[in-house]
Order: sequence, then structure tokens, then C-alpha cells
Amino acid sequence: MELYRLKAHEIRDKIIRKDVKAEEVVKSFLSRIEDIDSKLGAYLYVAKEESIKEAKRVDIKIEKGEKLGLLAGIPIAIKDNISVLGMQNTCASKILEGYISPYDAFVVKKLKTCDSVILGKTNMDEFAMGSSNENSAFKIVKNPFDLSRVPGGSSGGSAAAVASYEAALSLGTETGGSVRQPASFCGIVGLKPTYGRVSRNGVVAFASTLDQVGTMGKDVEDCALITEVVSGVDKGDFTTADIEVPNYKKFLTKDVKGKRIGVPEEFFNGLDGKIHKKISDVLRVFKENGAIVEKISLPLLNYSIADYYIIACAEASSNLARFDGVKYGFRAKNFKDAEDICINSRTEGFGREVKRRIILGTYVLSKGYYDAYYKKALKVRNLIKMDFQKVLSKYDAIITPTSPTTAFKIGEKNKDVLSMYLGDVYTVPVNIAGLPAITVPCGYVEGLPVGFQLIGNYFGEGTLFNLAFSYEKSTKHQNEIPNI
Ligand code: GLN
Repeated sequence: MELYRLKAHEIRDKIIRKDVKAEEVVKSFLSRIEDIDSKLGAYLYVAKEESIKEAKRVDIKIEKGEKLGLLAGIPIAIKDNISVLGMQNTCASKILEGYISPYDAFVVKKLKTCDSVILGKTNMDEFAMGSSNENSAFKIVKNPFDLSRVPGGSSGGSAAAVASYEAALSLGTETGGSVRQPASFCGIVGLKPTYGRVSRNGVVAFASTLDQVGTMGKDVEDCALITEVVSGVDKGDFTTADIEVPNYKKFLTKDVKGKRIGVPEEFFNGLDGKIHKKISDVLRVFKENGAIVEKISLPLLNYSIADYYIIACAEASSNLARFDGVKYGFRAKNFKDAEDICINSRTEGFGREVKRRIILGTYVLSKGYYDAYYKKALKVRNLIKMDFQKVLSKYDAIITPTSPTTAFKIGEKNKDVLSMYLGDVYTVPVNIAGLPAITVPCGYVEGLPVGFQLIGNYFGEGTLFNLAFSYEKSTKHQNEIPNI
């Protein structure tokens, strides 16, 4: 079997036992990328030389018998909005073309300290705004299960890379579902951690009160492994919590006896019958494994899409003000004066969706509209949080589909922005409340992967891994090899 087909934890075990060298592993992934990525478009930059050099360093450590990190020799793909020293960080935007990160994001530092190997930077929706990856300024990512379909977004490159065996693990970012939705469209496991669990230091900001780095792997164990490594307090991000990071491996047991799972009625109204059926099957598995599954109600969730798009756009309009053609990357060629540099660079450098969000965000923050939109949205945010807290004081997790549809056709939704936004209905409430949530594959509808979502209490990632693992080990839906 080719090495690229192994799961991350299997690679690590083989490397530690000296069955294979880290260099062989990384070369196997690099040749996989070379073979298929021209069809898929998951990578914006492949770190060929750097990754081989890193792998050799790991091999020397092994030869010398030095202590190895948790991710020794595991090849990892990083979304192109997370800084890796010496590599591009374009956010898939023209405005950052040519920009090279002068430092590592905190999460990347952690990955490096644990002896992982960074394979490259993955494609995404521009500035993480989108649900299909069609907003990349450079190229569209294709879904590995059907190349005429989207991989989801905005971390579509990171999801497609793991699903198609172009990386063992990957990092994405989440503002409103950008890890969970593409993970579910591509048939892999993806986690959005609690706000404050993982540092945002070195990650290009979209909406700072919602953003969080998320993790992706082929199975729950892989996802838990990388989550443990990147989690933890960072004095460079004052919103990170100084709460001990558990050994998530301890949570990987099949036992979920007595665990309480809430099923929000509101989320199942009008849901596509075939997806509904998949979720009902998941509920049956949990019941068989001893969990208590009960109907609950989260009445305010209907407001979350509107709430999210007001808050996210408001914050984005402020965060993206720093891209002015002076400090980073791209600068327009023609300008008369300093103001002109800014106007022309932004006009030429930003894509349509990014401009739409900046305009919307500026509008809801402007005098006269601030109270009517932004301030009201913050109040609604609090109510949504309280809705969740009420339920999560009695339940260990809430279950929902991850997305109302499977991967849709390229071009199907990008003319109708509202229908694209509505696809985020199950994921955005979690970011609004700052809660953790995981998506787990639960089979296929017409050949396309479906995922279900478990939402947990603050810093309850361990419980989510436990439930997800229990389900995964009771079924056989995972990791069909995409026909690419
Ligand atoms: N699809 C959502 C949006 O376009 C979420 C994006 C994200 O999580 N980065 O805003």
C-alpha cells in the first residue's frame, strides 16, 4: 500500500518503529500531489524542498534516538491564511499576492515543535468568505468525489487535500462553518474548537470574535491528535484560555452509556429526506451504544444566519482596512497620490464577495444604522448563547446535520448569494455562541458524502471526540477512496 493512504496515527507509529523514514512518507505525499492536484486545485503552494528538508531532520532525530513529538513525520497541509515562516500567505486574494510570512503562526510553531512536516498552503475562498471555494482569486478547488462539484468552503483546499490523500492532516479556519462544512462535503472529520481553545496569533483575521483555527483528519483519532497539539494558551492571543489541554486520546472509547444527546426539532423542519434518513440512522447507532437521545428546542436559531452575516461583515470591514496597498503584497500600478494607492489597490485587489462584505459591514456600523443592525445583532447573539447554555446544562451534546445539502455543482449557487448564505444554517450558530463542534462522516447520498454535527459545551472537545469515536467505531462509512 502507498504510504499516502495511511492515517496520521498509523504514519507516526510506523516512523517511530522505524518501519519507514519520514522522508519516504513525505515523498509519497508529494508524488500524490504531483499526480492529482492539477485536477483538484487543493494547493496554492507546495513546499517541496522545505518539506523534504524537515522530514530529513526528523529522520536524523530518530537515528540519534532523540525524543519525538506527537506528530513526528506527519505531513500536514495549512490553509493559506495561516502564517508559515518563509511561505506565501495570500488568503487566496490578489491583494496579498507576493506577500511572504515573516513568522510562524502560534499553531504552526506548535506543529513544528511536535516534529510534523508542513506540505504546503491550501486553497480557500478569498479571506475565508464563502462556502464553496469558488471565491478563490486563483483557481477553483474541486470535490474529490465528483470533480464537477464544490468541495465546500472556505477551507475547501484543506478538506479536499485530506480526503484525496494529498495530506495526512490539515488546518483550516472557522468563522461560520468553514472547517465543518467542507469536511462534511469531502467525507472527513473536522473540528471547530471552543473560542479561546486555539490561538489566532498569525492567522489573518476575518471576524475576530468568531474566528478559530480548526482541524481536519481522516478519522476521529487523527483529528483528536492534531487538535491536542494546536490547542492551548498563548500570550500572543489574549482571548486564549489558560485551561489545561486534556489528553484527547483518553476520550477515544466506544463507551457512551448514559451520555445525553439533544436533537433540536427546529433543525429538522424541511430537511432533505435522504439526509434526514442518514441522521436518523446516526441516532439509532447512538441509542444502541447506550446514549440517551431526546428532542430539544432551540427556538432562536432561526435568527442566526442574519445575526452572523451582520456581525461577521462588520468585523471584516474593520479587519480588512489594513490592506491598503502600502503594507502588504499587491499595489496598483497607477496612482496619483497616497489615497489613490489605497483606493486603486483595494479596487483591483479584492474580489466581488470581499467587497460586498466590506460594504455591508461598513453600512451596519455607520451612524444611524449601528443601533438598528450591529447593536441589535450583538443582543441577539447573547440570546442565542443563552438558548444553547440552557440546553447544554442538561445535555452532553446537540446533534444536527452539518449541512442541509451534499456538495453542490460548481456554479450552482454563486449567482444567488442568499442561497449560499442559507447553507450555513447549521454551522454559524456554533460560532456565534463560541462553542466547539465536530463533523463526522455518516455515509453517502447519491455517491456524495454526508456528515453529522455534534455541538458540545465550552471546552468539551473531549466529550465530542468520545461520541464521534463511538459512532465511527460502530459503522463503516469512513474513507471510501475518491475516484480520482
Ligand atoms: N460560509 C461562511 C461565510 O461565508 C463561513 C466562512 C468561514 O467560516 N470562514 O462567512
